[in-house]
Amino acid sequence: MFVKKKVSLILIISMIIILLFGCAEAGKSPIAKEEEVSPKVVDGEESVGLKVHFIDVGQGSSAFIVGADGKTMLYDAGGDDENSGRIIVDYIKEIGYEHIDVAVFTHPHADHINGAPTVFKELKVGSVYYPKATHTTRTFENFVEAVSKAGLKFKTAKAGVEIPFGETNAVLVAPISEQYENLNDYSATVKLTWEDTSVLLTGDIEKTSENEMIGSKQDLDIDLLFVPHHGSNSSTTDGFLDKTTPDYAVISSGKDNSYGHPHREVVNRLNKKNIKIYNTAEVGTVIATLDGEKIEIDTVGKKHVNDQGSNKNGSSNKVANDKIEMLDVAASISDPKPKQNSSVVLTAKVTSDGKPVEGAKVKILNHYKSKTTPYEGVTDKNGVAEISYEIGRASIDFEVKVDVTVVKDNLETKTQVSFTPQ
Ligand SMILES: [Zn+2]
Repeated sequence: MFVKKKVSLILIISMIIILLFGCAEAGKSPIAKEEEVSPKVVDGEESVGLKVHFIDVGQGSSAFIVGADGKTMLYDAGGDDENSGRIIVDYIKEIGYEHIDVAVFTHPHADHINGAPTVFKELKVGSVYYPKATHTTRTFENFVEAVSKAGLKFKTAKAGVEIPFGETNAVLVAPISEQYENLNDYSATVKLTWEDTSVLLTGDIEKTSENEMIGSKQDLDIDLLFVPHHGSNSSTTDGFLDKTTPDYAVISSGKDNSYGHPHREVVNRLNKKNIKIYNTAEVGTVIATLDGEKIEIDTVGKKHVNDQGSNKNGSSNKVANDKIEMLDVAASISDPKPKQNSSVVLTAKVTSDGKPVEGAKVKILNHYKSKTTPYEGVTDKNGVAEISYEIGRASIDFEVKVDVTVVKDNLETKTQVSFTPQ
């Protein structure tokens, strides 16, 4: 309590100084930004402890951590699309940092790494931890390339490895096995401890990795859980919650995401155990301060969604600045009569008044005989999004309808295509 008051006092005093002497010295960050800037206090005595910023990246995951001694860690850098790198770097710079001492990437899925190239291009990174999991996507290749361009080599992320992170204790508690069937279970899981307070960062681990951790002898008693896999029902079992006993849970998910994250079952399990939930889709960026005795949570509010007026999105996306009043979409399937288990590519071209629309979200929903499968993409500067997927063992001669929904700002439009497996 005392520490917190002292920090607020420092903030107020510095605001008064800025008001008295003008903003010239404060650089490009005028007072208007004050509310979203956290005090950077690195001096031992004035330290507020460990701060974890769960950045609002939409449907993805990225946490920026500042230790009591000012050391910094980035845990994942992914979101709705490549623009997540912009959101993450802007946020880190806004709160006064240019350097990442340690970066941890959990697994190769795009929603955890698609912002990495921008991070490595714009911020100095000291070391990178990553598990032994590879993928064949372009996004993964770009990630690996960005790391090597930065002159870095991966350090293997696996259970038992201690990450040098200044005065903060940082230890990897998963993955425990060498191999998993599911890429999510490779997720590098980190426990951070500052005095008597701790947080567990879990990536997209599922039941398999959770069960291994439950069965291990590791101390997994924590105060705050970064909820696995965006709150998917694949994870956060009762057994895992019993082992970790968190008081707080942070979920990183996108508003109205097509996966239905967080799943109701998970929210129910957390509620039943009286664990307080913060979901970035609802409250925006979540900042947890672990002062060594207790945890305080602040939320920044939604900033990145539908804020047309802000230059945050506008500066990197010219089309977004032109006020769009209508959306059109034309969609086609690469092969209307695909073989079972083959891949198809759905191409959507999004226009407004005949001009291509960049950055529109394209969601598709395949209506198979017994289930529906969602996929997503984002249009490029030509207004085109290509979404490729495997049709699996779809029933032969059963026409699969594909709903295509396009969303940009507050506009939405739909169309439908179909294919018939042979
Ligand atoms: Zn994910």
